[in-house]
Amino acid sequence: MNPLFALSRAVLLRMSRAAALGRAVQGTAWGRRSVRRFVAGNTIPEAVAVALDLKGRGFTVTLDRLGEASSGASADTYAADASALLIAQSTAGLEPNVSVKLTALGLEEGSNLAAARLERILTTAQSVHGFVRVDAEYPHSLDQLHEIVCTARAAGRPVGTVLQANMRRSMRDVDRLISAGVPIRLVKGAYDPGVDGVGESAAVDAAYLGLAERLLGSPLHVAFGTHDDRIIDQLGDAAKARGEVQLLYGVRAELAERLRRTGWRVRIYTPYGPDWWPYSLRRMAERPANLRFVLRSLFGR
Ligand SMILES: Cc1cc2nc3c(=O)[nH]c(=O)nc-3n(C[C@H](O)[C@H](O)[C@H](O)COP(=O)(O)OP(=O)(O)OC[C@H]3O[C@@H](n4cnc5c(N)ncnc54)[C@H](O)[C@@H]3O)c2cc1C
Repeated sequence: MNPLFALSRAVLLRMSRAAALGRAVQGTAWGRRSVRRFVAGNTIPEAVAVALDLKGRGFTVTLDRLGEASSGASADTYAADASALLIAQSTAGLEPNVSVKLTALGLEEGSNLAAARLERILTTAQSVHGFVRVDAEYPHSLDQLHEIVCTARAAGRPVGTVLQANMRRSMRDVDRLISAGVPIRLVKGAYDPGVDGVGESAAVDAAYLGLAERLLGSPLHVAFGTHDDRIIDQLGDAAKARGEVQLLYGVRAELAERLRRTGWRVRIYTPYGPDWWPYSLRRMAERPANLRFVLRSLFGR
């Protein structure tokens, strides 16, 4: 990896965890303006309007209310918002489909509380024939994530999760999740894998293709969460027939359009909400050139 890229990535990832700085910037109008390329507004009606526009252009949409580590009342609010979002999607004629994060559901207070808040969202999802995907986060939270999701799936809940190719453990986790019938979104991984990392980007790509093969050999629906057209091209027609590609809102819109035209089902993962700092910084860490877009929108050029 280019040393300058590695340095800016490390700095941006560190800044994404600077909560006080994030809160200060999130409160400003210029901050909100700077991230509108990646974030579909602050409120549910704004997010639903963006989703309707995407639907009109032939895409399906997953909405994600931004939020990271929470507890107590703010975790309750996050859960209530996810349920309200499912209902708003259904009312607007959209497929009710949301992504949530266990840390935002209060995982730091313990698995039971987070699972109980997730259960409330899943009950709502079931009532509107919707689906909830629980995003994968830091390596130390993955055991709890799998336990919670497998238990909910065993109870018949409409829930799926995410596997990160940059972690070695994913090659083991994939079998457990397949046997539990948990639908998977496969991604390269946005969190530092620590000692469990598979290595540099070529190793992550190889791990991604290995996991894709395992998943395509199972009866489950598979979602490929990537903007990497070289990987998507290697997935082949079986993947196109069986699964879908998911891209992040504001990232590689031209690729989303090309994939849609060539017969892929394409879903746009669309985040919204006032807590956009960590998410936006992670997107910039993936591609420091995004800083240019952010600065341009910030200064109105
Ligand atoms: C729908 C979706 C859901 C995700 N959910 C999770 C999750 O739950 N947990 C998790 O750890 N990670 C998640 N991620 C993030 C993922 O792990 C990667 O960090 C991210 O997608 C970048 O990897 P890539 O596969 O796009 O490939 P890369 O090799 O990083 O990129 C491939 C190409 O896309 C371009 N590109 C990639 N990212 C950007 C960007 N931000 N802006 C502009 N161009 C870009 C690159 O320049 C390159 O040309 C998700 C990603 C997607 C698309």
